[in-house]
Amino acid sequence: MALELPELDSLEILVIVDNELDPISPSPNPAVAQSGGMKTIGLNGPDLTKDPSRGGAARELRMDHICCSAHGLSLLITGIRGSERHTVLFDTGPEDHAFERNARRLNAPLGDVETIQLSHWHRDHSGGMLKAIAMINAAKPAGSEGVKVDLHPARPKYRGLQPPGLPVVSLEADPTFGEIEGAGGVVERMSEPHTVAGGMFAVSGEIPRVTPYEYGLRFGMRYEEATGKWESDEKMADERFLMCRLKDKGLVMFTGCSHAGVVNAARHTLDLHPDTPLYAVMGGFHLADAEAAQIASTAQDLKGLGVKVLLAGHCTGWRAKFEIQRVMEEGSLVPSFVGSKFVL
Ligand SMILES: [Zn+2]
Ligand SMILES: [Zn+2]
Repeated sequence: MALELPELDSLEILVIVDNELDPISPSPNPAVAQSGGMKTIGLNGPDLTKDPSRGGAARELRMDHICCSAHGLSLLITGIRGSERHTVLFDTGPEDHAFERNARRLNAPLGDVETIQLSHWHRDHSGGMLKAIAMINAAKPAGSEGVKVDLHPARPKYRGLQPPGLPVVSLEADPTFGEIEGAGGVVERMSEPHTVAGGMFAVSGEIPRVTPYEYGLRFGMRYEEATGKWESDEKMADERFLMCRLKDKGLVMFTGCSHAGVVNAARHTLDLHPDTPLYAVMGGFHLADAEAAQIASTAQDLKGLGVKVLLAGHCTGWRAKFEIQRVMEEGSLVPSFVGSKFVL
């Protein structure tokens, strides 16, 4: 199935939750504008000009205005085409507090969010959802409809991990459909590719597993109430990415954890919108605990696919970022830091 996406003039991405914090390093790529670091925070800090004790300083750079990192991902993504703007919240981070604290510190425009898309059922992406729904709906004008929440229908009762010889370790449950509705979300259960947010963005269906080296989430398990048993679930078939199309650049794809493999996801982005180059990939590449050979193949294949910008974050891991930096053109790797605002 091929999609038709409109060409966006630009794309703004606010990183509300991510694993890494670095409010100092600038964007290494002039085509990727990055703000939200110390300079932004300082110049937008409290006004000191009326304080005679500060020797004429203009602003205060406050440490409690800097975001905090957390293991998870939440991106507020706005597509812009002429005077039209549409906003999606891609994932909600691991816990209420992480989402709420950073969204407040960033003064995130939550009232603009039309749809929350959950990339996959894993608590580090869904844990802040109920709080996010409440904050988004509270930020909308009175009488507005609740925010849409785009979910894969196959929610496991629990997800967990079981390395060989060890007992199952269960994650906390993802919010249930009922809890999401109870919090004010309008649930949309989607397993096939479709567009969202005024047709500016598309959400994928299941990502075909094509490469020989991307084998899913090793030791992944799921518990189903119906069977009453923990079963192996390394495939994580419910993972879906978000994509859009940027004028003069190409497709931009957002991936939650890449349990399907970031190269498989990148290739499928091109399947869904043929004859358009893949310009950028942002999110978690899940290579933090991967073998060196997989990391090397991933970097080579992303390069081979002609991807220009890799906004690597969340579970990518420092070794994969190092390898991307080593083998790809300077400026290809733009690490995603919590609190950053990127403009493409
Ligand atoms: Zn995951
Ligand atoms: Zn994750």
